Amino acid sequence: MIFAHEVAHQWWYAQVGNDQVREPWVDEALATYTSGLAMDGWGMFDELRAYWERSYELGRSRVPGATPFDPVWAFPEGRGYGGIVYSGGALFFLDLEGTMGRAPLLRALRRYLGEYRWGIATGAELLGILRDAGGAGAKEVIEGWRRGARP
Ligand SMILES: [Zn+2]
Repeated sequence: MIFAHEVAHQWWYAQVGNDQVREPWVDEALATYTSGLAMDGWGMFDELRAYWERSYELGRSRVPGATPFDPVWAFPEGRGYGGIVYSGGALFFLDLEGTMGRAPLLRALRRYLGEYRWGIATGAELLGILRDAGGAGAKEVIEGWRRGARP
């Protein structure tokens, strides 16, 4: 799991940079979600998803009201950070996948990679591409997660 996550950073952060303190989800949630694609290919996705769910709920119990889109400083001493930003962020992308389909989501991520490669992207720019690609369903998922409520 860790190996796949760190390899995924060769795309998310190594090719598309972002502000890791203000918006850590932009690379960490993407690296976690896309590492799940590798785990899926290895037949280990159900176990991984169960881990994401447990980790997210543990994070929510430690920092009630926090969302995957929060900055690093929303998690004093790192409490709940991994569960909410990494696992919750991966579940956010998984909800998007459920709404728009995997292939359209991956096309949107390729567009994001193409438009921001070797640059610095913001969360708003990534969300804009996801809204464009996923329409009303994606907008509902995004707004739900931003409110701290899974749709
Ligand atoms: Zn990471």
